[in-house]
Amino acid sequence: MPAKPKSPARELLFGDLWTYDPAPETADPNISARYGLFINGRFSAPKSRKYFPSVSPRDESKLAEIALAGPADVDAAYQAAAAAFPAWSGLPGAERGKFLYRIARLLQDRAREFAVAETLDGGKPIKESRDFDLPVAAAHFFYHAGWADKLEYLGHGKPVRPLGVVGQVIPWNFPLLMLAWKLAPALAAGNTVVLKPAETTSITALKFASVLTDAGLPPGVVNIVTGAGETGAAVVRHPLASKIAFTGSTEVGKAIQRALAGTDRKLTLELGGKAANIVFGDAPLDQAVEGIVNGIFFNQGHVCCAGSRLLVQESVAAEVLARLKRRIATLRVGDPLDKNTDLGAINSREQLDRIRGLVASGVEEGATIYQPECRLPAKGWYYPPTLFSGVSQSHRVANEEIFGPVLSILTFRTPQEAIEKANNTAYGLSAGVWTDKGSRILWMADRLKAGVVWANTYNKFDPASPFGGFKESGFGREGGRQGMWDYLG
Ligand code: NAD
Repeated sequence: MPAKPKSPARELLFGDLWTYDPAPETADPNISARYGLFINGRFSAPKSRKYFPSVSPRDESKLAEIALAGPADVDAAYQAAAAAFPAWSGLPGAERGKFLYRIARLLQDRAREFAVAETLDGGKPIKESRDFDLPVAAAHFFYHAGWADKLEYLGHGKPVRPLGVVGQVIPWNFPLLMLAWKLAPALAAGNTVVLKPAETTSITALKFASVLTDAGLPPGVVNIVTGAGETGAAVVRHPLASKIAFTGSTEVGKAIQRALAGTDRKLTLELGGKAANIVFGDAPLDQAVEGIVNGIFFNQGHVCCAGSRLLVQESVAAEVLARLKRRIATLRVGDPLDKNTDLGAINSREQLDRIRGLVASGVEEGATIYQPECRLPAKGWYYPPTLFSGVSQSHRVANEEIFGPVLSILTFRTPQEAIEKANNTAYGLSAGVWTDKGSRILWMADRLKAGVVWANTYNKFDPASPFGGFKESGFGREGGRQGMWDYLG
């Protein structure tokens, strides 16, 4: 790529005048050199006798060895969960709730330690793991603790009962938060669990086992098995599973749906997305630009509901693009442990290659690329914030989920055209609308085929607010009353 001219904004703010001193977070993440499987309330060596390394995307250093669970290990986890089910589901709801409150408080107590571990293992900026992942994970346990003794109100008089043993498989982009989204409602409802974290980010789930132990959770109620796709497939196919809850790619989601077809098991799928963030000409543009930046660059764009397609009204397109370029030139890309970092590391080399491949396709297909000048660390996996303008609907960067810090910009002239373009995707997870007019927000929200529509904001999450998709973004909801329903029969 030819050398790019220095951006005036960056030059003025950070360039020759001054730079920030490094501000690394120094709390001890308390990571063990080796982790076994957490089955029946204690760690044990895998029957498979195999381990795999967990590598930090920050600098490619090895953080720990993680046990690889084979079919016999997964079976042991299910047997433990099945044995724990009668006593756990038989507890009065208020008693189960006390365990969830305890878990939430213990997580708060150890928030800093967990935030550092999450950042080292996954690559996200420490300010995000500290200010978003940890508080929201704790909030999920607090919120669902409140449901545990109110289950009879969920059914409006119809009795509800827990499902049994639930198998849960989660992705790498929000490891601890996805764990909380899965465990909290399942436990509140009285189910027991076999959970599999993603292979590149197992550490906070394994550390979380000590929170469960400290909270006094009875053995077998939560079992954590680690490994890659084959372990996930063993969790999904196990005959003791009453329900499978999966968050991950649409491709794997479809394979799981095929595997469970014809069985009586419940299934919820939280899959990919390609959300439209729609900016009308009457929107407050400075706020919209902040929302666009947050929508796509939060967690390096490793976000299922990322606002990865910007639809901007033609009358303000040039102005929005100019402001966006100025703004992203000020983003700090680099060491995720530094408290000033805005964009940390890409989770894996594989993901970095995927981002590079899709960006190359955008250039080849004729879109105009913009990347601000930024110096990336020599070690580790990093990618600069990237804008594509002049994108047409047929481009791969407009259709495929990139799952990286890459924004595709399209334009529209009328609200109807905005709706047609926004809905022209296989996905249906989320959308954003930026306008001064409340009536237009409601008109748009009515027509957007998306599970979540944010208005004049983006990426807002609350445990009381159900989250989930339509179309190839999956089905079922997490959070709120609807999320509780998906763990009850
Ligand atoms: P992935 O589908 O590759 O992996 C997700 C999990 O499934 C991992 O734990 C993995 O080991 C496991 N897995 C892989 N193959 C499996 C198989 N055949 N059977 C059972 N389990 C298997 O996805 P990923 O790359 O880890 O995560 C990124 C994807 O997750 C993106 O598409 C993103 O949009 C999606 N995601 C969705 C949500 C949501 O709420 N909708 C949230 C976060 C991430």
